[in-house]
Amino acid sequence: MGSDCYHAGERGPSPGLQSFPIRFYNLLIDLHCHTSASDGALSPTEIVDRALAAGIDLLAITDHDSVAGYRAAAHHYTANPGRMKLISGVEVSCRWNGLSLHVVGLGMDCDHPAMVSALHRLDSARDERGRKIGERLAKKGFPGGYEGALQEAAGSQLGRPHFAAWMVDRGHVRDASQAFDRYLGQGKAGDVKAFWPELEEAVGWIVSAGGVAVLAHPLKYRLTRSRLRRLVSEFADIGGAALEVSSGRQLQDQVRQLSLLAREFGLEASAGSDFHRDSSYGPDLGVELRLIEGLEGVWQRWRATSQTGGSEH
Ligand code: MN
Ligand code: MN
Ligand code: MN
Repeated sequence: MGSDCYHAGERGPSPGLQSFPIRFYNLLIDLHCHTSASDGALSPTEIVDRALAAGIDLLAITDHDSVAGYRAAAHHYTANPGRMKLISGVEVSCRWNGLSLHVVGLGMDCDHPAMVSALHRLDSARDERGRKIGERLAKKGFPGGYEGALQEAAGSQLGRPHFAAWMVDRGHVRDASQAFDRYLGQGKAGDVKAFWPELEEAVGWIVSAGGVAVLAHPLKYRLTRSRLRRLVSEFADIGGAALEVSSGRQLQDQVRQLSLLAREFGLEASAGSDFHRDSSYGPDLGVELRLIEGLEGVWQRWRATSQTGGSEH
């Protein structure tokens, strides 16, 4: 990892940040990661074992629109407890002014009626989208895509990569990247937006279920500065509690920018790797925590107690 990386293991702020003290804080946490229950490569059990081996103190599993990975992980961890604290999580897909956004929910009661119906709603949005992609591909001369993609997904969450895999299997395309270039990528026939809930609804579900709503990777939406401020301001107004000030491999400057934004709107800081799989350019599981002065960390809500494994909601 490069020295420009927030959690790359360098200790102490770079000279340029002395006016903005970020102190090393002896905790390793991850409040954003994925398992094979959504689009991650590792099973929930593997993620827990990986996190334990890495010495992570606090872990939230935040699969897209699903808590199945967290449930399986909690089950495994209850049987094989360690010193890490595992909390529930989810990454909810939603919309804000026509833009697709992600809100991470942390520590919510997965069995709360608000969460149960939310997950059901998100499930059917995803399924509807899959059917629509199938229809679009059929119009291009490739019928049976929905069923084929479901088979490729083999019980995991249906997404465009499964349609690509099906097209490759059928010999419709040479490889997955050709499938995306021609049929599934941005602006192509299979680029179907799901009927995701509005941001306010998504935040409402998480809060109703006793969870904390975190705006995921705020810089990933490529908003102008003023639009990002508007988003963060609205997010705070509707019950959002925290911003991910550190997401994946991020520059210290970006952490600084997001920390200032969080402070301005009275939001807490959150941090996660957004780990999906091992790769040479992607982040590893775990974020070395630095105490950012003047900013509360959402992790402080959970770090006081000892690990409870799966008994935590
Ligand atoms: Mn993902
Ligand atoms: Mn995301
Ligand atoms: Mn994610």
